[in-house]
Amino acid sequence: MERICPLCNSLSNIKITCSVCGGEMEDKGRVQEFRDSYAPEDELEYENGDCRHVFQCNQCNELKNVGIKSLYI
Ligand SMILES: [Zn+2]
Ligand SMILES: [Zn+2]
Repeated sequence: MERICPLCNSLSNIKITCSVCGGEMEDKGRVQEFRDSYAPEDELEYENGDCRHVFQCNQCNELKNVGIKSLYI
């Protein structure tokens, strides 16, 4: 069995509602690739090897760091 991130592998499309304006947040890629512009404030939350992605609101540009549950294939 192999452990994969459904977002990195385009297996699912997760939509998140912005807590600030209620708009739609889009996946902007893995947190590791977003380091320059996003403070790794919860770096200690790399729990269970979940892939962490940055989501950005397409209305107010709010950023959110989300842990994505891995799939086993
Ligand atoms: Zn991922
Ligand atoms: Zn927003």
